Amino acid sequence: MNKITRRTLLKYTSTGLAAGVLSGSIGKVLAATMPANVKVSPGPGFTGKIPFSLIIDDGSPVDPLFYELPGYETPFLVPARFTRRVADTFDRFDLQGKFTIIPMPSCLGRIDQSLKRVPQDHLLEFLKLMRERVYPRFDITPEFLTHLSSYDLKTGNYRRHMYEDTWITQAPKEEIVEYFTLAFQILKNVGIESTGITSPWVSGIDVEDKYAQALADAQWNIYKRKLTWYFLYAASDNEKPYQCNVKYKNVERGQVVVSVPANAGDIFWSMDLPEKKDRPKFVKDGIDRLVSPDGKTGRIRQLIDSGYPVVIVTHWQSLFTQGTELGLDGLTLLAERIKKVFGSTFEWVKCSEMARRYVESQS
Ligand SMILES: [Zn+2]
Repeated sequence: MNKITRRTLLKYTSTGLAAGVLSGSIGKVLAATMPANVKVSPGPGFTGKIPFSLIIDDGSPVDPLFYELPGYETPFLVPARFTRRVADTFDRFDLQGKFTIIPMPSCLGRIDQSLKRVPQDHLLEFLKLMRERVYPRFDITPEFLTHLSSYDLKTGNYRRHMYEDTWITQAPKEEIVEYFTLAFQILKNVGIESTGITSPWVSGIDVEDKYAQALADAQWNIYKRKLTWYFLYAASDNEKPYQCNVKYKNVERGQVVVSVPANAGDIFWSMDLPEKKDRPKFVKDGIDRLVSPDGKTGRIRQLIDSGYPVVIVTHWQSLFTQGTELGLDGLTLLAERIKKVFGSTFEWVKCSEMARRYVESQS
């Protein structure tokens, strides 16, 4: 399987194709680093409710697959009307978790300045909706800088031949610190303070110690933040789940870096299906796998019973589904069913809160 296909699929679609990719060499790496099952015990701040988080990757005023997958048919600009509908859905179900904003989406420029081919009022409206409607209930993180070609900090050019996952593998730690610091700074310039970072694809999985330390330094540089976290690991609903994990501690600073995984793949990523008419059933089946209609079975129940974090991942482009908004319709159905089944026993929380409770349970 060529690299672009792997990049597109990983982290994470719930198709059999993606599962096939994972059973290859990358799957072995993941399996080897899988921590043992840990039960989260109640500590201070314990509400008695089971925390759920929703992760939405790849957020941007443009559909990031427009450039990442040549020939992918989608409206280039994601309309503000859609972004507003997403925010309304968050409000309606009190959803919380993590939302990515890509600082230099599709290598078009910086969101705190201007983007090529994107009208400035479109960019500003997207950022206003993010700040006012999404930021209060979601951690907002960068997903490195471009989620595509790496950015050359010295020349200000994009390295067309080197994507960000290849870049981080070979980059010295100091350069990664500078890269992440710039990502946090760009978001800060538009009024958003990030508590952590997201890996595009599975960037950094082969150099995770260096990655976690660079994140710690970058967060310390800008915020002096003692608890920071990253999203790198994702298991689909038929794979062994991951636990949260303290990946790095800096005793002098009293700083910890936590890996927060997702344990249910993107059930709304229906765009790979050859027939568009098959999409609604694909989404419906995905929802049933996470929570059965009677609420008795499903991935979420399994995660709760086995003490793994209930973190669900989806993508901005899956919710948009090439302008049809089919994924967002699916998210609405999923959130409705979760609310009906789990009632007052659960609560949506930010990923930083998931990380905080995990660290608390371990001390
Ligand atoms: Zn991504």
